[in-house]
Amino acid sequence: MEDVYRLYKSMKIIHNYINGKLSKPKNSNYIRVFNPSTGKAYAKCPDSSFTDLNNAIASANNAFILWSKKSNEDRSEILLKIAHELHKNREKFALAETIDNGKPLNDSRNIDIERSINNLKFFASAIINNSSESHSLPGNVINYTLRDPLGIVACITPWNYPLHLLTWKISPALMMGNCVIAKPSEVTPMTAYLFSKLCIKAGLPKGVLNIIYGAGNNIGDEIVKHPKIKAISFTGGTKTGKTISKTASSLLKKVSLELGGKNPIIIFDDCNYDEMLNTTVRSSFGNQGQICLCGERIFIQESIYNKFKKDFVKETKKLKIGNPLKSDTNQGAIVSKEHYTKVLAYFDRARESGAKFITGGKSKSVKGTCSKGWFIEPSIIENLDRNSDCYKEEAFGPVTSLHKFKNKEEVIAMANETKYGLSASIWTSDLSTAHQIAKDIEFGIVWVNAWNLRDLRTPFGGMKDSGLGREGGNESMRFFSETKNVCINYD
Ligand code: NDP
Repeated sequence: MEDVYRLYKSMKIIHNYINGKLSKPKNSNYIRVFNPSTGKAYAKCPDSSFTDLNNAIASANNAFILWSKKSNEDRSEILLKIAHELHKNREKFALAETIDNGKPLNDSRNIDIERSINNLKFFASAIINNSSESHSLPGNVINYTLRDPLGIVACITPWNYPLHLLTWKISPALMMGNCVIAKPSEVTPMTAYLFSKLCIKAGLPKGVLNIIYGAGNNIGDEIVKHPKIKAISFTGGTKTGKTISKTASSLLKKVSLELGGKNPIIIFDDCNYDEMLNTTVRSSFGNQGQICLCGERIFIQESIYNKFKKDFVKETKKLKIGNPLKSDTNQGAIVSKEHYTKVLAYFDRARESGAKFITGGKSKSVKGTCSKGWFIEPSIIENLDRNSDCYKEEAFGPVTSLHKFKNKEEVIAMANETKYGLSASIWTSDLSTAHQIAKDIEFGIVWVNAWNLRDLRTPFGGMKDSGLGREGGNESMRFFSETKNVCINYD
């Protein structure tokens, strides 16, 4: 597997995908792209300018007339062809995601690329099975509701699940008849680039999807402001989400925001202990802790606190950290040097506030090819002051904190004492406890005896500072359409 690094030895150049072609940025500016597990730059992606954006908008504008008039079946067929191409090339994509993001190759295969294929297939099927609503009134009156495409929409995505989140947004947008300007994170642009090649191969008409790369606060901001863009679907940090929301709302644009979280995992002493323990290791450290759904606060009923602490530390210590290309690696590298520094600074602040690391709490040195990579030990904190910054802010790294609780009332209050409201997991075998807590906690996604168990039809998204609107199934299809009600009196 080490040979793979040779494959990526020469500098790769990423191109924008505009008007059905791969093109260089007009200003010839590029941003370096790093392999997080080696710490070396291996590619460069465009730092696009307003001219590139305008070219993409012009091509999307031309494409819209034909694309929006195509039948649902025709649009669906093209998306299925892209899914088929992705499936054929899945190993190449998994490898590219790992090199670009630092995550274990097994995760890229079984989560990122697998889910990307599923996203494409799901929305290709959803559009065929989509039904319109009609409401009749007494007498001869009937309403029917049309959902028309919006026009040109933007999909802005983060670095933690680069291709998965891109396909999650562009699929419903395209199936509803819109043309798309997508901007992946400049930190992890590679699989989006490879994906644009698949779109060309699968025959996606030119201009229907345009992918442009560049710094968020530059070209990202231009995308949000552009008068031709009717809606913005964004996944990323809360701070960026607020900036986007401010700009977009002043222009009366539709916005969907999927933002950060500080999610609680609530463990009662009557739960299925072994299953809970296995899942809690994943919910804490999966994807190096860089999942918006990761549980950064674990609340444990006091009767099993000591047992849980001992077992959780033991299981965490078994995780293998290192070269993400090795098949037995559980945890790869942190996505960028900047993010690595941010997570370690969070550790320092936690210590300063009096917290104690019962395992981890530092970077991890890895020998061989990955000696210059950005690795952090999976870390567990105890005695984290609930008034401290670290308790309140998302770390978005391989770290979680343990807290004792006595009863339902106390844990509901503790779970809710955050500005975020994305997801929560409740572990109990008592159905009434599960129902009551699920009802009283302020989180958009609640799992009982599970974590990150996904059904693409369900509403996905957060309350409070975790976002605005929901994605998934009909929620996504509605977001990417303009609703028109027609009321007929046929008396
Ligand atoms: P950022 O908010 O930094 O960036 C997300 C995307 O927005 C990137 O493409 C970025 O570009 C772009 N961007 C940055 N500034 C602007 C701007 N002013 N206008 C338009 N676009 C901009 O998030 P991260 O990439 O750091 O992702 C991590 C965050 O994402 C975490 O907080 C995590 O919780 C959240 N997240 C939420 C999910 C959810 O479903 N709720 C799922 C996954 C992640 P560039 O990178 O090029 O600067």
